[in-house]
Amino acid sequence: MVERVERTSPDSTGPSITDRGGITLRELQAIPVERLRGVGDKKQASLRDVGVESVLDLLTTYPRRWVDRSNEARVSDLVTGQEALVLVTVRSVSKRTMRNRKTMIEVQVGDGSGRLHIVFFNQPWRERQLREGLQIMLFGKADVYRGGLQMTNPIVDLIGDRTGKIVPIYPQSEKANLSTWEIAGWVENALERCAIRSFADPVPSMVRARLGLVDRATAMRGIHAPETMGEKELARRRLAFDELLRVQTVLVMRKRAFEREQRGIRHDMGGVLVRRFHEALPYALTGAQARAIAEIDKDLAGPHPMHRLLQGDVGSGKTVVAVSAMLCAVQGGHQGALMAPTEVLAEQHAAGIRALLADLTVPDPDNLFGDRALKVSLLTNRITGQERRDVIAGLADGTIDIVIGTHALIQDAIEFESLGVVVVDEQHRFGVEQRAALRMKGSGANDEERVVPDVLVMTATPIPRTAAMTVYGDLDVSVLDELPPGRTPIVTHWANGGLMELAAWGDVKQAVSEGRQAYVVCPLIDESEKLEVASAQETYDRLVHQELKGLRIGLLHGRLPSTEKEQVMNAFRARELDVLVATTVIEVGVDVPNATVMVIVDADRFGIAQLHQLRGRVGRGAHASTCWLVTTEVEGPSPRVEALVKSTDGFELAEVDLDLRGEGTLMNTAQKGRSDLKLASLRRDRELVKLARDAAFQIVDPDPLLAQHPQLLDEIRLILSAEDESFLFKS
Ligand code: ADP
Ligand code: MG
Repeated sequence: MVERVERTSPDSTGPSITDRGGITLRELQAIPVERLRGVGDKKQASLRDVGVESVLDLLTTYPRRWVDRSNEARVSDLVTGQEALVLVTVRSVSKRTMRNRKTMIEVQVGDGSGRLHIVFFNQPWRERQLREGLQIMLFGKADVYRGGLQMTNPIVDLIGDRTGKIVPIYPQSEKANLSTWEIAGWVENALERCAIRSFADPVPSMVRARLGLVDRATAMRGIHAPETMGEKELARRRLAFDELLRVQTVLVMRKRAFEREQRGIRHDMGGVLVRRFHEALPYALTGAQARAIAEIDKDLAGPHPMHRLLQGDVGSGKTVVAVSAMLCAVQGGHQGALMAPTEVLAEQHAAGIRALLADLTVPDPDNLFGDRALKVSLLTNRITGQERRDVIAGLADGTIDIVIGTHALIQDAIEFESLGVVVVDEQHRFGVEQRAALRMKGSGANDEERVVPDVLVMTATPIPRTAAMTVYGDLDVSVLDELPPGRTPIVTHWANGGLMELAAWGDVKQAVSEGRQAYVVCPLIDESEKLEVASAQETYDRLVHQELKGLRIGLLHGRLPSTEKEQVMNAFRARELDVLVATTVIEVGVDVPNATVMVIVDADRFGIAQLHQLRGRVGRGAHASTCWLVTTEVEGPSPRVEALVKSTDGFELAEVDLDLRGEGTLMNTAQKGRSDLKLASLRRDRELVKLARDAAFQIVDPDPLLAQHPQLLDEIRLILSAEDESFLFKS
């Protein structure tokens, strides 16, 4: 009873596939890969090295590329300057060592129509890989060299003796000694076995039909052994959808579980305090701020605790939005708390927010005809002794309206009279557990009765919208995608090499002579803070004695005692220092509008997001600002540095970042274990992310524990962490 699946039609979703009797992912995971023909001890070990232990692992080892033989060019058709794919035979291979000790492998190849010269730089192993007589596919750009055609460092695929019009190319591992045709053979074998029962399909056929998705059996064949490229595309789309649907289902379940499990506060949205605050602002809100505030207000008015992310580029005006939310709590008799990642930032927020609220008063319930001032307090580890005891008492008895602090706020000893709204700034420094601890500060005698405060997480690290749906899929998202009017854009230069670097220091001196100030950011050293401090000290010493001799220079790094850090920052703010040499401790939130030049040393060691954050420290005042990205003689383009030179738009840069780095790093927090997105790309599949998220809501809302979707439930259980498991399914 082998079920044949219609292979070319996209809507072969009909009754020929049995949804229940098919083989499940869990079953495939239970079959060791050595059960397949041709996988002996040695190959089994090699496969384990690349993470393939079960048949499921093998079947989700997808081809890296598909070569369409009907589409390949002949050597005689190659056009210089254009990329093309050619199938050729290796004629000869030779190796040369160049003057700088680097190796160059030269390979002569050809097909019936002509010859081509290939050079590989720094790939000495090509000498062993490319033997005379071997058939290979090459993908690259042909150029003219000494009258003949040449490709430099093309992509090479060994295709062995595969036949068929479309050849899947699997990730090959030189080290693990696995070839694409071996993998293809085992996959074929596995697919043949699976065809006996076909694949279980967790996506309801209604959903498949509506979204134009092929069934899973068709998709599995289509990805590994397509007959046309169109078939492969449909397969990819379906399998990518599966990956995204699993992730989104978990996230949507998590979101709904929060809402179900936790009682929130219906905040008083009609009070005068928020209205007075808005009326007193010296500027009009941007459209984006008004939108975000409306979204937040709606959450605050509702019965469920808010769990919202506020994304906004540096300088987009997140503070006003956050304060507005905290005041909603205050006007209903609750308290607001803002938690910042560092003491410097907490102090800065406290100063800024106190200034913003200086003239604001609240109607005083104890005195019907009088108002009282708002009480805003600071709590960090630097606040000690009597002062600390006063703050702690004020939080417990409710006389403090708004508290601003560091993680000191979530220590056990701190109790609130009635915490209503919590704002967490710069989410990337806080873990999920810390957010959870803050939520526990809500009032109520025990877990059952506890009223959970509303939580607003603010981040200045822009994430493309669809990526945010995945990374922060259990949060609602508001975006400030508009800067307040009247900013002068920062001009960014790339200073590559000594001569250009001099121009940067010249700019610093010029700015200082005009009364401005400058930051110098020291090289990032990931491995060790100690080394980083040493290198900062070195940069400082060099600048003091050489490039910036005569200027007043301060040094700030993470190893300084906090009082000293504070002294240095205060001196810089008070313009007693012209230049602040610092490690990335100044990355977030430091606000000195008179600083107009930033020089980032060894800029190519930083990521795009980090460079963008750093650069956001300038361009905060009326004067035009510049940022210098210094590198030491980088050969060729540096895509990250170039992106920064071209754009100051955080969201645009986030897209570039995603393109350059892939999504691996983004996903770490959202999911664990085997659930990595293998085919789906948050970048390529923006449309699918949205579809999968919508589908997840449609599945979860009427069926919160997936009782009606046992197969999907089983599949997501393969990717759930233990905490998720107990949180989502606690009865
Ligand atoms: P973020 O925290 O998002 O980086 P801030 O809240 O610190 O930004 O705001 C940056 C600056 O912009 C502050 O000086 C603030 O007073 C100002 N600002 C905020 N909103 C507006 C607005 N709507 N119009 C003009 N200036 C604004
Ligand atoms: Mg800020």
